[in-house]
Formats: sequence, structure tokens, C-alpha cells
Amino acid sequence: MSHFIDHNYIENLIGENTNPSKEEILAVCEKASNMEGLTHSEVAKLLHVTDPELLKRIYKTAGQIKNKIYGNRVVMFAPLYISNHCVNTCSYCGFQNNNDMCRRRLTMEEIQTEVKILERMGHKRIALEAGEDPKNCPIEYVLESIDTIYNTSEAQGNIRRINVNIAATTVEDYKSFKTKALAHIYYSRKHTTNQHMKQII
Ligand code: SF4
Repeated sequence: MSHFIDHNYIENLIGENTNPSKEEILAVCEKASNMEGLTHSEVAKLLHVTDPELLKRIYKTAGQIKNKIYGNRVVMFAPLYISNHCVNTCSYCGFQNNNDMCRRRLTMEEIQTEVKILERMGHKRIALEAGEDPKNCPIEYVLESIDTIYNTSEAQGNIRRINVNIAATTVEDYKSFKTKALAHIYYSRKHTTNQHMKQII
């Protein structure tokens, strides 16, 4: 898969926006409060803030925006790990490739069993989780798993929403998610796209 993130652009942007003034930061917060959307340079400025008062202002602004968009609510979802195959070596993760452990992915029957347990507990939302391994956990398997989850129901009801938490993938793979009858949110498991940070983690 080709890299679609321009690391030089990001590094330059961060470098060009060091030492923002207090007025600049307050103006960015004001713009964000008005839900106008921020430019890349404005976001880069925020990354350099260390002043506790300004940080407080940023957090307050973020909280206000969150409340405007989502209201005062917390959404719970249950994680469902379908595969622990992974080609990566993130140092904090038990699934990292250099850990000598039993590797497997759940069968569709096992997924059904897990989903029924979660449904009996009253869950309506699932975060579907899998390590990154195109060979042992291909997109076709993930799509089949999604179908299985949506088609599994107990007396208490069924799963209404699946958040898919897998590795970044191709445009074609993303399109295949769109073909599913029920909409689900996709979010990538890459905790950082920064090359330097990736080496560290
Ligand atoms: S990519 Fe995900 S599953 Fe794989 S080692 Fe990193 S955090 Fe763990």
C-alpha cells in the first residue's frame, strides 16, 4: 500500500508554527468555538502551547464543541476481538508479532457465540477489533464477520452498530465496507502515522 500521508509536509507545518502568541491561540479557540473549522497551520499552532492557562482554554473549547455536537452523553460499546494475528511490533501490545503465542482468528460460529453473550448483556454496539495481517485476517474475513454479527440476534435484540477497528487499508477495501447494508464507522488502528513515533512504539 502506498503512503498517502506527507510526513515532510506535517513536519514542516509543525516547524513553521512554533512559538505562537497568546493572541493567535485565543483567535484559534474563538474560531473553533464558532464551529468554523481550523486550517492545518492553526492546528499546528495549538500543538506548541505549553502555557497552563492557554491549555485550559483549549480544553474548555474542545469540551464546548463536543457538547454542541454530541450533547451530554457517553456511548458505550463492547470490544470484540476476532483475530490476534498481527505483523506489527507495537511495544505496548500483547499481540505484537514477536510475542510467541497461539495465533488464531475466530470462526463464524465462535463469533456468533460471543455476540449472543454480548446481546444477552444488553449491548447494542460493538467495536470489532483485529490485528494487522492481510494474509491471516484478510478484508473478506472481516466483511464476513460483520455480516455474521449483524445476522446474530437474541431475544434481547441485536447489534445495531459496529465500529470497525482494523489497520489502515486500500481504497478498494474501504469501498467494500460501503457495500454493507448497515452503516458502520471505520476507524483505523494505527495509533500514529508519524514515522519517527512508529519506530519508537
Ligand atoms: S498493530 Fe495493533 S494489534 Fe498489532 S501490535 Fe500494534 S497495537 Fe497490537
